[in-house]
Amino acid sequence: MRTVTTVADLREQIALWRAKDDTIALVPTMGALHDGHVSLVETARTQADRTIVSIFLNPRQFAPNEDLSTYPRDLEADAAMLAASHVDLLYAPSHDEVFPNGFATMVNVEGPASGLEASSRPHFFAGVATIVTKLFTQSEPDVAVFGEKDYQQLLVVKRLVCDLNLRPHIVSAPTVREPDGLALSSRNAYLDDKQRRIAPHLYETLAGIAARLPTHDEPDKLLSNVNVQLGEVFDRVDYFDWRDAETLELRIEPERPSRLLGAVRLGHTRLIDNVPVAPTQWKP
Ligand code: AMP
Repeated sequence: MRTVTTVADLREQIALWRAKDDTIALVPTMGALHDGHVSLVETARTQADRTIVSIFLNPRQFAPNEDLSTYPRDLEADAAMLAASHVDLLYAPSHDEVFPNGFATMVNVEGPASGLEASSRPHFFAGVATIVTKLFTQSEPDVAVFGEKDYQQLLVVKRLVCDLNLRPHIVSAPTVREPDGLALSSRNAYLDDKQRRIAPHLYETLAGIAARLPTHDEPDKLLSNVNVQLGEVFDRVDYFDWRDAETLELRIEPERPSRLLGAVRLGHTRLIDNVPVAPTQWKP
């Protein structure tokens, strides 16, 4: 696996591959890699001849009070994991390579970028959309792979690609979980033993409600108490919502796929998760 840190070297390598008609898949990450990221790489490898993984801890998607300074970083371990996963190229640019002095352009998505995550993290999706746009224009991949773990982000990226006529086809990969259901996340490293035991309760709740919703006569009743129940276990509930799986709109139409999404806090650690809900059979 080759590692490059500049846009010029990235483009030079890509030009060599394009000259051979190789197709290219990109997996954008912030590092602190785990098996969830590896599963995205595996998906990427089925989609194109060459796989690029980017590692960039993007300060523009963190608010000043968030965990940028403590976010786990270990480029050496990440590179070893990617090499073992047969990645062709690691792109690990410096901050100044991505955001040189005078950088003044942000990409702002509306629609799916409203509500949910944006309610607690209003800066977040402009940060994501800006770095993703830059990565896509720097590398022009045929395919880019994103995790369903960050479901709203996945829809925002799809919207962005469509609206700005960006090149890649967006492919999603399912959430990889611990045996007890907790979604793998770089932020799980922050949890102490007690918090780690509590953390899977978010997935248990989402999965339990998702199993009952499609055939429940009164979905609103089923959902009405969930926030309170989660609040008894977690330190804070940012949201727990049932949304259309494609538009994220609140109104759920029968016969359409939908999604339950939740975000909670344990101490300073924020956990997010989501699960699919089969089309409902209930009549409104
Ligand atoms: P991050 O490094 O957290 O920005 O994540 C990079 C990519 O990995 C995003 O597309 C995430 O949705 C995806 N990802 C994170 N956690 C998981 C997981 N547990 N399973 C599958 N994909 C994941």
